[in-house]
Amino acid sequence: MSVTSTLEADLLCRQDPELAEVLLGELARQSTTLQLIAAENFTSPAVLAALGSPFANKYAEGYPGARYHGGCEFVDVAESLAVDRARRLFGAEHANVQSHSGSSAVLAAYAALLRPGDTVLAMGLPFGGHLTHGSPANFSGRWFDFVGYGVEADSGLIDHEQVRTLARTHRPKAIVCGSIAYPRHIDYAFFRSVADEVGAYLIADAAHPMGLVAGGAAPSPVPYADVVCATTHKVLRGPRGGMILCGGELAERVDRAVFPFTQGGAQMHTIAAKAVAFGEAATPGFRTYAQQVVANARMLAGELAAAGLTVTTGGTDTHLVVVDPTPLGVEGRAARGRLAAAGMVLDTCVLPHGDARGLRLGTAALTTQGMKEVEMVRVAALFAAVLSERTDAGTVREEVRELAGRFPPYPC
Ligand SMILES: *Cc1c(COP(=O)(O)O)cnc(C)c1O
Repeated sequence: MSVTSTLEADLLCRQDPELAEVLLGELARQSTTLQLIAAENFTSPAVLAALGSPFANKYAEGYPGARYHGGCEFVDVAESLAVDRARRLFGAEHANVQSHSGSSAVLAAYAALLRPGDTVLAMGLPFGGHLTHGSPANFSGRWFDFVGYGVEADSGLIDHEQVRTLARTHRPKAIVCGSIAYPRHIDYAFFRSVADEVGAYLIADAAHPMGLVAGGAAPSPVPYADVVCATTHKVLRGPRGGMILCGGELAERVDRAVFPFTQGGAQMHTIAAKAVAFGEAATPGFRTYAQQVVANARMLAGELAAAGLTVTTGGTDTHLVVVDPTPLGVEGRAARGRLAAAGMVLDTCVLPHGDARGLRLGTAALTTQGMKEVEMVRVAALFAAVLSERTDAGTVREEVRELAGRFPPYPC
């Protein structure tokens, strides 16, 4: 069901008022607070329509033209559309669009290229590596031998010297570049040269920046990495899910690693929605959107720095802004709580080189709502007012409600 369709909303309200009320509560929450969680966005009504479509009913193990189930003539077309659009959008020889999530895509990439016990070099978790980059709580840390690189203490930038040294010392089977909290462009050519030097595969986990890549606002990992993993729901603005891009020579290994090695039947409604999102991302409007996402993040970073917060790496090239609020006399977790009470929703994150937690913000969702630099100045002012306790949370909450109300994510 798509809450943007009154007909479908009415249907749900009549049949299951209990659930409908919860859903409408969530719609109200999303419409009256500021979504600053860096991994979130607002999908279009067309994407929601595909997600709520009868494709949700269909079982389709396998790939187009080679399914284990009958009746796949329409889902085959939908998946082929998604694959072709992804390949064209990112200039990739091969695309697999079946991964249920970004983590599933990374699992499949490892399954395609590695064996349990292999050594992998990735950004360490204390510096912004993802769970799938060797966390002991995740399959990756249990099944592979991860070595972590970090960022320089003074600049906050990836320590390229350390990456090269660790690669020479440990001779990893694969090198992973990509992070959940690195606000700068990644030098894929550098990682490629290190991988070549030590004979490693290069896996780019570009879950965060892939939407910017689609819109021409960030460099593409596709020409450099053997395998690119991504999510479709972050800046890319599609349904929740993952995808994998690779060269033709790895296509079969990647496909088999997704199905049947790590997944069963594909979620055809999500794949149809991915096709819709890739179509949207190929439009000039999306290019404008991606540039605005970055312009907004730059403005937000600059304003937060001017308000006294420490911005890691001194700014951003992407949608991500990571700040340390301690100069305002508040630690990350407490800051998140105060901001939440004022209607500003975001995450804490690790800060390199220290025990304190920082705050991670993103501009993807606000930009989809139509906010521009002038609104970022306002958001930063409200942010600083809450953290410095110049204004009480209740007053700021009303100002947030007013600001959000001017940019409804799903105008009726
Ligand atoms: C978001 C993210 C993932 C995981 O995506 P899920 O869909 O939550 O599983 C993996 N790697 C990186 C770098 C991410 O940012």
